[in-house]
Amino acid sequence: MKVACVGGGPAGLYLSILLKLRDPSHEITVHERNPEGSTYGWGVTYWRGLLDRLHLHDPESARALDENSVCWSDGIAHIGDRTARHTGDQGFGIGRHRLLEILAARARSLGVRLAYDDEITADRLPDADLVVAADGVRSALRTRHADHFGTEVTAGRNSYIWLGTTKVFDAFTFAFVETDHGWIWCYGYGYSAGHSTCVVECAPETWTGLGLDRADEAGGLALLEKLFAGVLDGHPLIGRSASDAGAPWLTFRTLTNRTWYRDNLVLVGDAAHTTHYSIGAGTTLALEDAIALADALREQPDLPRALARYERERKAALLSAQSAARHSAQWYENLPRYINLPPDRMFALLGQRHSPLLPYVPPQLYYRLDRAAGQLEALRRFKRWLGPKVARALASRG
Ligand SMILES: Cc1cc2nc3c(=O)[nH]c(=O)nc-3n(C[C@H](O)[C@H](O)[C@H](O)COP(=O)(O)OP(=O)(O)OC[C@H]3O[C@@H](n4cnc5c(N)ncnc54)[C@H](O)[C@@H]3O)c2cc1C
Repeated sequence: MKVACVGGGPAGLYLSILLKLRDPSHEITVHERNPEGSTYGWGVTYWRGLLDRLHLHDPESARALDENSVCWSDGIAHIGDRTARHTGDQGFGIGRHRLLEILAARARSLGVRLAYDDEITADRLPDADLVVAADGVRSALRTRHADHFGTEVTAGRNSYIWLGTTKVFDAFTFAFVETDHGWIWCYGYGYSAGHSTCVVECAPETWTGLGLDRADEAGGLALLEKLFAGVLDGHPLIGRSASDAGAPWLTFRTLTNRTWYRDNLVLVGDAAHTTHYSIGAGTTLALEDAIALADALREQPDLPRALARYERERKAALLSAQSAARHSAQWYENLPRYINLPPDRMFALLGQRHSPLLPYVPPQLYYRLDRAAGQLEALRRFKRWLGPKVARALASRG
């Protein structure tokens, strides 16, 4: 089979690896518009479950990923001048540049053709049996047939910016800072020996009130460094690496598609769906799409059936992450509801922000119920039973 993957992000590269591993006779090209080694963003998070799945599918790239990731198990939240800590949830961080370097090297070693500086336009699709739109959230291939795909985009309310820093956080670190224009917050985590990711977010009125909408890049970063001086320990925030195009302030776009394929064109990763960055899942979901598509293509020789199976499986698998992402984004948009709780309670509810119940239960009561549920199996089961029902009822009303 001749396969063209448009986009050399995690989804396109990992799919090319899996297809080549399963059948070395496949002729596979990854077309990436940027030069090799150039990408946006900083480090991304993932959890143990992903590593386990990657080990099953390609132990070699999984090992490289593991070796190049950093790991943390503590969380710390600075809320104004108060602090709360939490121990126990192990997470991993890896730099996007490093991740793509690993996947590209593995793909190349298996015989995948990697074409960099090669932008594909929607009216000049490569000649292939299967064209994979792995071209990210602004996918030109998807946009060309937006009506067919049933694309829907919802913009979040808050402004955010994805930054790096040379401060290496040894715990997953949150800092919430009150200003004359409302709260602004960041969260940071290490992803290499010398760098961390630092995502900053605030409500639009805080963004304009602080002048971040008008500041140039250096002025904006200087202001953020001052606001977050308490966690940065004198380290700078970095807007752009040498090779990427810079870090703009954005509002997050949650994207869904009614269908994920059209003839021999199929959507994967961010081109098919996005989940709010605050749940740190987009890369994991992109890699899992690649696994599901490679499985479907191997087990179902008929292309339309394979694509239908892939779409069905992934849409179902995504429901809980999409719900978690929606509620997590809303939690931050409703920050005033939680910010004045005692710090340990505020931090505990930050950890519960994915819950569909939390927006409808007074926060203090939810906290007490959650504590009790942690101790009582029956209550825990009741909560698990009630949560999806409330979510479904609310979704059908909206
Ligand atoms: C602030 C922020 C923080 C995040 N943090 C995390 C995190 O902690 N954990 C996590 O799992 N996820 C995180 N994500 C999400 C994650 O970055 C994406 O979900 C993931 O990169 C999706 O992978 P992809 O391969 O689908 O798309 P992308 O990584 O976007 O790759 C698409 C590629 O296609 C190329 N391309 C586009 N158009 C064309 C064209 N016409 N021709 C050729 N090439 C083209 C692009 O240059 C790009 O290289 C975060 C996102 C944001 C915004």
